[in-house]
Amino acid sequence: MRLALLDRDGVLNVDLPHSVRHPGELAMIPGSAAAVARLNHAGIGVAVVTNQSVVGRGIVSPELLERINDRIRAALDREGGRIDAWFVCPDPPERPTERRKPQPGMLREALIQFRTAPGDAVMIGDSASDLEAGAAAGCRRILVRTGKGAATQARGLAPHLLPVAVHDDLAAAVAALLGRS
Ligand SMILES: [Mg+2]
Repeated sequence: MRLALLDRDGVLNVDLPHSVRHPGELAMIPGSAAAVARLNHAGIGVAVVTNQSVVGRGIVSPELLERINDRIRAALDREGGRIDAWFVCPDPPERPTERRKPQPGMLREALIQFRTAPGDAVMIGDSASDLEAGAAAGCRRILVRTGKGAATQARGLAPHLLPVAVHDDLAAAVAALLGRS
């Protein structure tokens, strides 16, 4: 494994019904920052691939989105972790491009940037759209039960998405990837 592709909301930070619209609303999921640091220390690239339609819909400006992401960067920094690259899709749902998950455009951009074969990358997300994008890009797939993950699992996963490893949260997923030592 050379590259971890992480969804943001519901994986790194607590998802909100109307999505995070202000830095003050940003709360990390316990253990997620330390898990990113573990990936860093293992020499695995870490990229965030996130749909942020709040930007395309004009609810959150690009500048405000960066301030929200700064909160994530600061939380990671406190644990000695870092995101190596951010891929953000601002498309509104009614006008999606191939970058908006479930399409694999952002994942393919990340694979090119990190010069990584799809089979050496894992998509970790809480929604079926994350798994769809991962499958379309040819990456391994992990579902975390944080965020929408428990509901995604309860709904059942389509056969073409399988196999999907399911873990309670990012910390457990990383522990399984790297071993618990
Ligand atoms: Mg999510």
